[in-house]
Amino acid sequence: MTKTVFLDRDGTINEDVNFLRRPEDVRILPQVGRGMAMLQDCGFRLVVVSNQSGLARGILNEYDLFSVQQEIRRQLSVFSVSLDGAYFCPHHPTRGVVEDLVKTCSCRKPQPGLIYMAAEEMSLDLHQSFMIGDRLRDIACGQAAGLPSILVTTGRYQDDGPLRSWPNRPDYVAADFWEAARWIALRSGKREVNESIDS
Ligand SMILES: [Mg+2]
Ligand SMILES: [Zn+2]
Repeated sequence: MTKTVFLDRDGTINEDVNFLRRPEDVRILPQVGRGMAMLQDCGFRLVVVSNQSGLARGILNEYDLFSVQQEIRRQLSVFSVSLDGAYFCPHHPTRGVVEDLVKTCSCRKPQPGLIYMAAEEMSLDLHQSFMIGDRLRDIACGQAAGLPSILVTTGRYQDDGPLRSWPNRPDYVAADFWEAARWIALRSGKREVNESIDS
């Protein structure tokens, strides 16, 4: 059984452009490569869990999704990081043109279905795992699966102002991915984190 950090994609790993579908639009956010490398050094698996309702809406297809994912992997490899898995919800409950994908599912965040699916397929230990994301639904998803869940203010929210009205309080609010990774590392027993490495 393996400890894991579950990761939202858009706004957490890469810049959130609406319905990202072109590899040339992939821009990894600052501090992400460095933070991921540190988490992998600490023995965490890295697994993406991402809503991609653009599939249901007909805005992108499976090839687009794959191409973007390949580009994200390529850019992360510069940091010697390799993602261990990626799980996507292609559905939307109401909006869409692809008939099979317009439905209420259990994998669209804030539902925790993607985390459970990954945990079962990859034998991941949810008791030692964490969630990082940039939206309320990421926090709600992680917490529904029992994971300490960290909000990064690099995507939808640039500060923690809106959180005051949220039903789910993040376990930690991080200015960027490095801060999130550091919090996880220290919380899971690492004694110190070397701050001197440049991004
Ligand atoms: Mg996001
Ligand atoms: Zn789904």
